[in-house]
Amino acid sequence: MTLIEQIRALSGVEVQEQVSLSRLGTFQLGGPCAALLDCREPGPLSQVVYLLAMRGDPYVLIGGGSNLLFSDQGYAGWVVRYYSPDPCIEQEGPRLVVTGSTVLDDLAAYAAEAGLAGVNCCTGIPGTVGGAVVGNAGAWGQQIGDVVESVELLDPSGGVYTARAEDLAFRYRHSRLREGDEIVLCASLKLHAGDPDALQAERGEILATRAEKHPDLAIDPCIGSFFRNIEPSSDAARRQAAGYFLEQVGAKTFKVGGAQVFEKHANIIVKREGCRAQDVHDLSLQMQAAAQDQLDLALVREVRFLGAFDGADSHKGFF
Ligand SMILES: Cc1cc2nc3c(=O)[nH]c(=O)nc-3n(C[C@H](O)[C@H](O)[C@H](O)COP(=O)(O)OP(=O)(O)OC[C@H]3O[C@@H](n4cnc5c(N)ncnc54)[C@H](O)[C@@H]3O)c2cc1C
Repeated sequence: MTLIEQIRALSGVEVQEQVSLSRLGTFQLGGPCAALLDCREPGPLSQVVYLLAMRGDPYVLIGGGSNLLFSDQGYAGWVVRYYSPDPCIEQEGPRLVVTGSTVLDDLAAYAAEAGLAGVNCCTGIPGTVGGAVVGNAGAWGQQIGDVVESVELLDPSGGVYTARAEDLAFRYRHSRLREGDEIVLCASLKLHAGDPDALQAERGEILATRAEKHPDLAIDPCIGSFFRNIEPSSDAARRQAAGYFLEQVGAKTFKVGGAQVFEKHANIIVKREGCRAQDVHDLSLQMQAAAQDQLDLALVREVRFLGAFDGADSHKGFF
């Protein structure tokens, strides 16, 4: 049996060959990949990863693709997507156990309705719970890592183990998982009691603020903030928005091909007519160069790239 036949024989795994990466992310950019392996639940995902590991075949794991720029040239390996349109959440008192494949906003909506506070900051953030845990997603000074108690991880050889929050080194938009190959199968979150009406009202306000400040993905595809905010130089200082500095260097007028800096937010690149992933890559370099030359500020990318880009060292996976 070939590997693809073995994978097709697994239940809970959907296989599609020759898929455009542009279908897999919020930027709607990117060339083809050899095959997409879709898993919604931990069991099938573990089996797929085990089979790929046994064969030593290269693969990447994605969730909602809301933080990823895929190359126009595509990706030669397998793309495993851990994403579920139906939330998979179990409640035990103030504790929620949620799969990494669950949509982050579905989790926030569930918690608000159940009168559980602690993840309302994740309201409206695209992507999955797994992607959020890995990048410690959040907003307005709160992030998912604040309420993670433990995670169930799948290691690259197919083994499953539990890691406690203390071992994940959460900090601003970062956990130690960002540098490794482990997959977040499930997360256990410890929340606290809140008033459902107040949580729902806050949720509505957050969604309205996001709609006002962020691009509408149906009109202006993007992958959110491109660069990390600037770390404070002392304990007393606050982290400063990269968008503020980018605005100072005139980035809101920057454009390369069909890639353009969003008019309302200088740290977001949007896809306009004729845009290629390479345009986005080149525009991001222009933004970095302007900040460096004019302000002596070294901007660090928050988003990740997959595949080959002209002007970048050749990379086999994410970089
Ligand atoms: C309009 C818009 C607004 C945004 N606003 C915010 C915001 O306010 N705050 C914020 O923090 N982010 C924001 N983002 C960025 C993005 O939504 C988050 O980074 C999100 O958490 C990424 O999740 P994902 O499932 O899409 O991950 P992907 O983009 O699919 O993957 C990102 C990385 O996570 C890894 N990964 C994904 N799932 C798993 C898993 N289960 N186990 C291990 N690794 C995994 C991937 O391998 C990859 O390295 C925004 C994006 C957009 C488009």
